[in-house]
Amino acid sequence: DARLSDVDPEIAAVLNDELARQRDTLEMIASENFAPRAVLEAQGSVLTNKYAEGYPGRRYYGGCEHVDVAENLAIERVKELFGAEFANVQPHSGASANAAALAALISPGDKLMGLDLAHGGHLTHGMKLNFSGKLYEVAAYGVDKDTYRVDMDKVREQALAERPKVIIAGWSAYPRQLDFDAFASIAKEVGAYLWTDMAHFAGLVAAGLHPNPVPASDVVTSTVHKTLAGPRSGVILAKEQYGKKLNSAVFPGQQGGPLMHVIAAKAVAFKIAGSEEFRERQERVLEGARIIADRLNAPDVAEHGVSVLTGGTDVHLILVDLRNSALDGRQAEDLLHSVGITVNRNSVPFDPRPPMVTSGLRIGTPALATRGFGAAEFTEVAEIIAAALKPAPDVEALRARVQALTADFPLYPGQEQW
Ligand code: PLP
Repeated sequence: DARLSDVDPEIAAVLNDELARQRDTLEMIASENFAPRAVLEAQGSVLTNKYAEGYPGRRYYGGCEHVDVAENLAIERVKELFGAEFANVQPHSGASANAAALAALISPGDKLMGLDLAHGGHLTHGMKLNFSGKLYEVAAYGVDKDTYRVDMDKVREQALAERPKVIIAGWSAYPRQLDFDAFASIAKEVGAYLWTDMAHFAGLVAAGLHPNPVPASDVVTSTVHKTLAGPRSGVILAKEQYGKKLNSAVFPGQQGGPLMHVIAAKAVAFKIAGSEEFRERQERVLEGARIIADRLNAPDVAEHGVSVLTGGTDVHLILVDLRNSALDGRQAEDLLHSVGITVNRNSVPFDPRPPMVTSGLRIGTPALATRGFGAAEFTEVAEIIAAALKPAPDVEALRARVQALTADFPLYPGQEQW
């Protein structure tokens, strides 16, 4: 039974190079995190060998007695974590959870209303090249052009005019909280289902630091790998009345065999997400985001045309508006990359530049909070980013400051290689 490094040294090198990259840089992509070793262990296990089509106790394969325990634990833990009546933990990804949610609620040709991709929505909320835009009619809502926030009076007006069958609350790039009760009341008024996609902020909800969309929504989907810090995958929560339809939309509607190794890893992540250590970590996530937003709002940065969209943040990310700066999104992303900080360029609402260039940056704090960063380290990170975004930065000096931070907070300590 040869080891990976013997069987396939090229792929072994990729794993080790990636481990080194994660260790030696500051990971600030808002949708990323570092899964704990316990999650990686469950995911890299013999459960990958098992076929288990169907649901616990109702499988189409023999030998499922142990994986049933894992799936039931994942279901019970996630229901408890978010106060949900029903959970399906089988979606392979956030996008497949979303496809199943729509398939369970509406039919092709029906209308959905979600936040425009260009204003911070997700591909699966109705983008024209995505299944959601191809299968369904789409009426996208946007953010207000002055406040850059979702204006619920306008959402209501649009919903009354468009009469969608599903209204989607949720986002991939929006620095504020949504009003789920207002969404629910609009959905009720127009006879639509309310589906909330909490992929980005689920970890904050689990920690009690963000309003929970579960009570107000018919269906809630999420990824498990962003603020929740679990394995790369999705989950669906709902009121019990939608359970049967959702289960059948996932299997056999969309998927064959569930990834039992990933489901076991989800169970581990949900257990951790219920802990005090996790709650305390999410507090540092929020604190870090506020520290960076405050620093980038300061006059010495603002005078160079850099601003923070909506003026701040309530969540784990900051959107930097570069429309008035000398840098475009791509240049700013490359510049931060050169000092050792990984972020992604991001369109800002009403962006004059194309999506491959953009005029914004999305900066997130979850991965660094997992690494152990608190107020002092986030203050230093904020100083480095501020200096990098001002004209003529000293890249070498900034890179050395990044290295000092990464050296102080070892990632997966003791792990020689992967
Ligand atoms: N929903 C939202 C709001 C997201 O931000 C994302 C990921 O970026 C997804 C769904 C899709 O998740 P996945 O990449 O696992 O398909």
